[in-house]
Amino acid sequence: MTPDRITPSLKRELVLITAWLFFMLVIGMINDSILLFQFIGLLVYVLWNLYNLNQLTSWLATPSKHTPEVIGIWDEVYYQLYQLYKRQRKSRRKLTSILNKFQKSTQALPYATIILNEFNEIEWFNPAASQMFNLHSKIDISQRIDNLIRQPEFSKYLLKKEFSEPLQLLINKKKVVLSITPYGSGQYLISARDITSRSQLDDMRRDFISNASHELRTPLTVISGYIEFLQHKADEATKTPLDKIQQQIERMNKIITELIELARLESSSAIDQTKEVDIATLLDDVYNDALALDKNEHVIELIIDSKESDKQTCSLFGGYEELRIAFSNLLTNAIRYTPAQGNIKLLCSVSDANISISVQDSGPGISYEHIPRLTERFYRVDEGRSSEKGGTGLGLSIVKHILDRHNASIYIQSKVGEGSTFRCDFPILHPGTQLDN
Ligand code: ADP
Repeated sequence: MTPDRITPSLKRELVLITAWLFFMLVIGMINDSILLFQFIGLLVYVLWNLYNLNQLTSWLATPSKHTPEVIGIWDEVYYQLYQLYKRQRKSRRKLTSILNKFQKSTQALPYATIILNEFNEIEWFNPAASQMFNLHSKIDISQRIDNLIRQPEFSKYLLKKEFSEPLQLLINKKKVVLSITPYGSGQYLISARDITSRSQLDDMRRDFISNASHELRTPLTVISGYIEFLQHKADEATKTPLDKIQQQIERMNKIITELIELARLESSSAIDQTKEVDIATLLDDVYNDALALDKNEHVIELIIDSKESDKQTCSLFGGYEELRIAFSNLLTNAIRYTPAQGNIKLLCSVSDANISISVQDSGPGISYEHIPRLTERFYRVDEGRSSEKGGTGLGLSIVKHILDRHNASIYIQSKVGEGSTFRCDFPILHPGTQLDN
């Protein structure tokens, strides 16, 4: 201890003990026995301190504002300890009040909330969680969550510790979407919400679109038949309007076909990811369809950049027909929007992680603010141009759905006046890789 750290109370204590030993020295000198009286003086001091220590230990067991009557440094010790105890009590009260407020608000939450420790054991849950997962506070606290939510997908999700995407589960005949947020030191916050009615509404919407589209098909076919009949008998004055009606009927037919395709993609079960798709055959078919559609208006190339070793390790897995529709839509767009004599490329390349299939064109390009919205239904950059070219606004939405079903992603790069690239990245499945679907 440096001299400036000697507290005033220790200084007083030093003065006190010096005075006491001096007093014992005088008594020793009077009795001609200095050493004996110095020893007695020190012994009394030690015994007095032991007595105070004993008092302190019993006070610490149940601290209160009534401190024992003491003198010297012990007075200061009790004062400091009592201040510390007061501060601690104050912050404990504050913490309890925060905790109470937190518990009240989470209890009012409509979302089921569960707190887990680093061993996935339940530390706390709110009434909504108790109702959703049938949890009981008396018996389920400290139980492992995967012993209570006994679903293989949930155990896998918990084990994987990859919580960026939420998980959908069927619990007590209810559709539940559950997300996990790590926090603190290895703790997890589970929040889950019942989406049964939302999902029923989605199903109803999908069924309605699909049924309405199917129902519209029959009258359209009848109208189209009559128009064809009238076209045979048409004179110069009525030919053009009849041709225009026929064009619009074809457009409506296309919209209906694409709406039915979208509804099918949304409602059909997960794609069989074990079916291998031969990339070369697939791209060859898409390329030949595009050539037939294009009628030599553009320069269209197919470039497959694949080494011999890639051919053995890389394949696409999923639905041949769906993938064909996706790439055909991208190529049809390129043909539709690129001016005559422009260049269009269908490219395939392989990197360590992905197989990328891109459609590149030298068309008008798309301004950056439209790019994030291109895969929305009926989103068009220029409605007039799209309709005039026979577009429906559904093509890229179908592409996005198909890619999602194949765990693939779409990246759109475009510059106005220079052209666009639509790149589809498929993750390479190494042996033993499992896909979540
Ligand atoms: P559409 O049937 O209208 O082409 P899509 O969903 O396929 O609908 O495309 C959405 C919009 O994106 C189109 O209306 C068009 O404006 C724009 N677009 C798509 N592909 C291209 C492309 N290759 N070049 C320029 N614009 C494009």
